[in-house]
Formats: sequence, structure tokens, C-alpha cells
Amino acid sequence: MIELEGLCKHYGTGGRRMTAVEDASLHVGPGDFVSIMGHSGSGKTTLLSLMGGLMRPTAGTVRMDGVDLWGMDDRGLARLRNRRMGFVYQFASLIPTLTALENVMLPVVFGVPSPDARERALELLSALGMVERADAFPGQLSGGEQRRVAIARSFINGPAVVLADEPTGDLDEETEGEVFELFRRMNQQGAAFVLVTHSRELAALGRVRLRMDHGRLLEA
Ligand code: ADP
Ligand code: MG
Repeated sequence: MIELEGLCKHYGTGGRRMTAVEDASLHVGPGDFVSIMGHSGSGKTTLLSLMGGLMRPTAGTVRMDGVDLWGMDDRGLARLRNRRMGFVYQFASLIPTLTALENVMLPVVFGVPSPDARERALELLSALGMVERADAFPGQLSGGEQRRVAIARSFINGPAVVLADEPTGDLDEETEGEVFELFRRMNQQGAAFVLVTHSRELAALGRVRLRMDHGRLLEA
């Protein structure tokens, strides 16, 4: 499904050039669960951004269902990302002028119209203990609550793969448990996961466990 081959990312130029990801290769198949741990600065966010087509690699390829992401035009890539991938970003990513519910439904607005989107959005918010806050704006929510809305949003289009960057970084243990349960359920229903996490418990969900070390993707 997603195939990374010889993926490299350098930031900067000339003497100031630094290598964030070095020669990473990985295959993620339907229903796989990959967890990635690693120190801050080791290249995890860069790797996920490359995998999701948010950032162009310096070298190497990212293929989804055999198609090179960077061989597609912008529209094609946006469409693929919207329909096949779900993202949970490491940092705040909600639209401040939309409510929690509207934020969750946003990928539907840009994607395939669906009459039951509202119902699904409410179900996802409910699974994450957020249904009472559906009409709140991001500015009225705590960091952990905003995170849960972003997690619900990542699932709304029924993605084939979810790329999640430290999704429980700012959650308490109970809420982390809810996220854990939702991920497990979605994975049983067939969604693949690539999960960057500092939580050993969450990482243990991975059937493939990897770590990053100075830009290198290694077995955990
Ligand atoms: P992690 O998510 O594991 O903390 P990142 O992928 O965010 O690591 O960063 C990997 C390395 O690349 C770090 O040394 C970081 O400082 C550097 N880096 C990340 N983003 C940029 C950028 N936009 N410009 C320059 N350097 C960056
Ligand atoms: Mg990061």
C-alpha cells in the first residue's frame, strides 16, 4: 500500500545542510500496525511528513498503491491524501473558526459528500469522550481535547492508513486509554497505522516496531 524506498530528507543547503532522514525504506500493507519510537530530533515527524506527501523528499520515493506521490499533480495528490490517508499532527492543527464537530467533518467537505458524515463525526467524538464538546471552538478546548478532535478528524473519511505523530503526547492516562481502544478498533476494521509515540504501551500495539536514530529507521 505505502512503500518508502531509499528515502532521504536534507534541510538547508551547503555547509548548513543537515540530514533529517537517511535512506529509509519501509512497506506498510493493508491493516498493518507500525509503531516508531525515537529521541526528539531523530527525524520521526519528517519521516511521517514524507510518508504522507506533505513534504517532498530530497531523494528516494514514496509510493501509494504503486503510484509515486511526487509523480502526481497537486490535485491528484490532495485527492489521494483526502480519501486514503488520515493525519494526526504533532502540534495543534484545528481551524480556530470552526467548531469541534465542523473540524471533524472538514475532510468530508473537501472529499466525497456523504449524508451520514455528521452522524459518524458524532460517533467518533463520542468514542473519544468529546461529544458534549462538539459545538465548542478550538480556543475553548484544552490541548488534550483539541488533540482528540484531531484524532476524530483523521478517521472521518475511513482512511486506508492513519499517520499519527505523538497523538497522546498531551493526554492523561484515561484519555490515552480511549485513544488506544479506538486505534485498536479501527485497526481491526482494516485501517493501517503508522504511529510515532513515546508511550511504550501504545508502541506495543505495533506488530512492526521500529525506532529512529539520527535519521535512520531501524528495528526497535
Ligand atoms: P522528531 O520528530 O523525531 O523530533 P524532526 O523530524 O522534527 O524530529 O526533526 C529532525 C531534525 O530535522 C531535527 O534536527 C530538526 O531540528 C530538523 N528539522 C526539522 N524540521 C526542520 C526544518 N523545517 N528546517 C530545518 N531543520 C529542520
Ligand atoms: Mg516530532
